[in-house]
Amino acid sequence: MNYLEIDKNHTWHPYNSLPSKTKILGVKKTKKCKIYLESGEKLIDGMSSWWSAIHGYNNKFLNKSLKKQLKIMPHIMFGGLTHKPASILSKKLVDLTGLNSVFLCDSGSVSVEVALKTAILYQKAKGKDKYKFLALKNAYHGDTLGAMSVCDKENSMHSLYGTYLSQNIFTQAPSLGFDSDCSKELKELEEILKKHHNEIAGFIIEPVVQGAGGMRIYNPKYLETAKKLCEKYDILFIFDEIATGFGHTGKMFAYEYTNIKPDILTIGKGLTGGYMTMAAMLTTKDISDTISNSQIGVLMHGPTFMANPLACSVANASIDLLLNSPWQKRVLKIEKIFEEELEKIKDSKIVKNVRNIGVIGIIELKDDKYASKLQDFCVENGVWLRPFGKLFYSIVAYTISQKELLKITKTMIDAIKYIENHDEKF
Ligand SMILES: *Cc1c(COP(=O)(O)O)cnc(C)c1O
Repeated sequence: MNYLEIDKNHTWHPYNSLPSKTKILGVKKTKKCKIYLESGEKLIDGMSSWWSAIHGYNNKFLNKSLKKQLKIMPHIMFGGLTHKPASILSKKLVDLTGLNSVFLCDSGSVSVEVALKTAILYQKAKGKDKYKFLALKNAYHGDTLGAMSVCDKENSMHSLYGTYLSQNIFTQAPSLGFDSDCSKELKELEEILKKHHNEIAGFIIEPVVQGAGGMRIYNPKYLETAKKLCEKYDILFIFDEIATGFGHTGKMFAYEYTNIKPDILTIGKGLTGGYMTMAAMLTTKDISDTISNSQIGVLMHGPTFMANPLACSVANASIDLLLNSPWQKRVLKIEKIFEEELEKIKDSKIVKNVRNIGVIGIIELKDDKYASKLQDFCVENGVWLRPFGKLFYSIVAYTISQKELLKITKTMIDAIKYIENHDEKF
């Protein structure tokens, strides 16, 4: 069976046409930080499967946890029933965040939907009809329609969906840089809040690093002031840490760079160590009590595969593995290598800016026309990277070896040099 042929004819890939206009590579297996292709080549993984495979692939400890749970109970509905893996996971998440109430669901986008619903219900329970959200430009919160409605309008092509998409309010994202001044953006925020606070249920933000909407690192101080402004108007603070959570920025959660806590938190991606689809929405006891003790009474959401025991088990194992490892030391070491290596290419004529934090290294290009050529160059040189638009970036597993990481950064640099030398052709 030529599965690549079937794929080409029948299977849609993310953000793609059918058949795909770009090459789709067949993967035979994965191990640690390597991807083994059907063609016999092997690639060093510079993407960690979209922020999820934080321990690398095919980890023995995670495999064992899944096999063990498989023998006991692969799935059971969560309506009216519960099980140990879900309770253990809830307790772990409560201990990690200091929040109280956990809603387990199947993907990041769904957890964002649940977060938006929770915020609206909380406001309603308090007697306020607030049906809009505030979000940042360049934001990315997922691909379902509710989540999309708080994503950057241009990036997610809001215009295609006409009036079907909820209309939300956007404010300028804080300027680029961990130490940058954001007084201008805070001023704009204050003005928007003054004008629209009566309609805004919550402010949804990716703390410290905006991911897919621009890979932008910004000053955590923005969040501290923004929270104060929102508290004044009883606007909930929703942190989307689906990308940043579980250590990616050097802290367990990126909001730990601030002195504030979210009212609502969404997590996903790294939660199961990249094994299974699973996410969660967490909130405070005050918020869950306010909804539960009101006329509304219930949070009306319930995915069929809510709290899937296999996913809970592997999430529990992944969190244990992380907490029992020197992850902070590893992330810091990776951060230092990205910092030193990417610096070498910052003066290239096609590079606009290089930046990094935690296990994330980013080269922003001046033009978006190079993405597919850069990707081809990397694959030809044994590295899996998937640039999009102007962003040529890498997010690595915390367990990557120094040699593998240096191979990734060297390939990124070589790819830029290759483009520089062949620029007329593109
Ligand atoms: C990936 C991502 C999502 C969506 O998660 P899915 O599991 O892909 O639905 C939401 N928010 C952020 C910040 C993300 O990076």
